[in-house]
Amino acid sequence: MPTTTKAFNGFQTKCLHAGDHRNKSGHVTSPICLSTAFEFPDTAEGAKRAADIEADEFYGRWGSTNAREFEALIAGLEGAEDAVCASSGLGIISMIAHAFLHPGAHFVGVHACYSETKILLESVTKQLSVDATFVRSDQVENFAAAIRPDTKLVFVETPANPTLSLVDIEGVAKIVREQSEAVLVVDSTFASPYNQNPLSLGADIVVHSATKYIGGHSDVVAGVCAANRTLAHQVREKFSFHGPHLDPFAAWLLCRGIRTLGLRIRQQNENARELAHYLESHPKVNRVYYPMLESHPQHELARRQMRGGGGMICFEVQGGMEASLRFISTIQLSKLAVSLGGVTSTITHPSSMTHNLLPREEREKAGITDGMLRFSVGIEDADDLKQDLEDAFRSI
Ligand SMILES: *Cc1c(COP(=O)(O)O)cnc(C)c1O
Repeated sequence: MPTTTKAFNGFQTKCLHAGDHRNKSGHVTSPICLSTAFEFPDTAEGAKRAADIEADEFYGRWGSTNAREFEALIAGLEGAEDAVCASSGLGIISMIAHAFLHPGAHFVGVHACYSETKILLESVTKQLSVDATFVRSDQVENFAAAIRPDTKLVFVETPANPTLSLVDIEGVAKIVREQSEAVLVVDSTFASPYNQNPLSLGADIVVHSATKYIGGHSDVVAGVCAANRTLAHQVREKFSFHGPHLDPFAAWLLCRGIRTLGLRIRQQNENARELAHYLESHPKVNRVYYPMLESHPQHELARRQMRGGGGMICFEVQGGMEASLRFISTIQLSKLAVSLGGVTSTITHPSSMTHNLLPREEREKAGITDGMLRFSVGIEDADDLKQDLEDAFRSI
């Protein structure tokens, strides 16, 4: 079948065509291939595929044609040579930790991140006898103080879930290069590939919980990372033997979600910016956290490393936890639900619903207060979302 060889640069064009060479069927939309085994034309070919973990037509746990098409799309969107997907965001983060950490090594992580990422990295480092240092991530000096010659992995998240504090990717990458041979990993879930491309800023690996913006429709759990061929291969090796493979149907749903990624994120950026301004000027709101607000303490950095602020807003309603909970229980259009990045707006209370597994002291280190609300802005019309918020404010 003819495949696209024409060069193209537009983000939304890549969303549609970056994986073309992986769809060998000639169908405009790839068929779902559920087969877990593939007939070899001869014994030599069987042996060849068995020796090549990149082979997509060998055995289901090693990957599928649909998963490879998804990986090619992500590699295209992140400007990477290759990508590796897994059955969840945490699954791919776990594979990265196992690929680059070994007993006696040193690890640097951050306080401000998705709570279960922190719990996972704490547990993996403990089990592998890896010395771990967690830093406050909004100042590069903290990385300079923590990174050592034996640091093998540095894992950051920007913007952070849920506080939207940022990490200066370029600044940290420079320190990592100067002080170690560590692999720098950036969890870019909140930004999506549209708003931020960490590899172009010096990171080695970019990670996404594809459950969020990449899938975009709140109907699939998946994770993916993108990197150069060598690093991606190291992750794929771990992945093939640990076994968190992505189901072909899930991969197909992700490819379908990506077709509208550029359109969705543009709308979410626009909605969120408008709502962030609205919230900031509201008399019943204490504080709003959004990278593209001038009041964000790292606004200049946001403008430097992000194309848009994304669809996540964090804010505090006056009156602390009680008022915040009352506020979200009267919201109607936005769903009271965890997860984020879908086309439908959702709103959640991090300290009791997403970051509840962290002890209070850890939540404080991550900057999470009891009155904080996390708003994942969808693609509804901004005026309707604003009206929904206004009605909720009136009721408290
Ligand atoms: C949700 C999330 C994860 C975990 O991804 P799953 O797909 O739920 O395993 C990791 N990082 C961030 C920033 C997230 O929001």
